[in-house]
Amino acid sequence: MSSLVKLTIQWEENEIEININEEATLGDLKKKIHSIIHLEPARQTFFDFPLLETLEDHKITIKELNLRPDCVFIVKDKLSIDKPVKPRLGSRKQSEELKTFVFKIMNKPRDNKKLLVLDIDHTIYDAQAPNAVLGARPYLQDFLQGIYEEYDIAIWSATELAIAEKKLAALNMIENPNYKILFVLDFNAMPKVLLEEGSYYTKPLKIIWEKYQQYSSANTIICDDKPMNFRGDKSNGILIEPYSYVERDTDKELLHLMSYLKLIVKQEDFAALDHKKWKVYKDYSTDSTSDSDNYNYGEGSSGGTDDN
Ligand SMILES: [Mg+2]
Repeated sequence: MSSLVKLTIQWEENEIEININEEATLGDLKKKIHSIIHLEPARQTFFDFPLLETLEDHKITIKELNLRPDCVFIVKDKLSIDKPVKPRLGSRKQSEELKTFVFKIMNKPRDNKKLLVLDIDHTIYDAQAPNAVLGARPYLQDFLQGIYEEYDIAIWSATELAIAEKKLAALNMIENPNYKILFVLDFNAMPKVLLEEGSYYTKPLKIIWEKYQQYSSANTIICDDKPMNFRGDKSNGILIEPYSYVERDTDKELLHLMSYLKLIVKQEDFAALDHKKWKVYKDYSTDSTSDSDNYNYGEGSSGGTDDN
């Protein structure tokens, strides 16, 4: 069941509230804005979302944008902007001050373990599913139990803590006898990174490394379905295919991810590996000539890109 989402649009000096179905696309939103402010959809640009300015991205649904509750769409007229608004990567200007956030600590770290930071929505769960059994990504419990042998498991979700905890409870991930969750972080721990052309929210691992000094870029992996979430930590990030419960009969992402995480676990520096090809890894543990210097993922295409 889809539901209505309330969005705030800022246009010139005005803030306008719009109710729109969460399944509506960005293109639908532009049409709705047109009916209110009479600015042609083609001339509208969203200041905070410059990376969505392609035809294809107009098919993204409001729900898929995973907006923060306090998000405001700043609408500008492309004709009134001197230069075309084009995404330019790597031009970070500054980071906004973080709001107060808490580590919801659930368990203690164990000695000599690596750290896996997992997103919830579309990484291990699809909230659109009729129930949590269908919403859980296939092999979730096998995956968590399997990697817990070598990894401490943390959760970082771009929702509110209470909602994240509800989802984890529905997934039977709290007080599970087979593994423990170290902590949960929510969207309050996500700073807004301002680029010259706009901004995005992200999950910088240094927040975790400052608190838990046993973890670093050498032994941490963050797994998310949105590349922007680990844009500042690309060498520690694994991009996973977004999970939708309608594909649950064929989805094997978590089995592949478990194999990959186990494959790399003995590596001294995770940041030195190329995680883009994580799905086409080569199991060099069976190859006596391999070592960390000729680390090889084998042939094939990668699981995704890291630049959009
Ligand atoms: Mg997600």
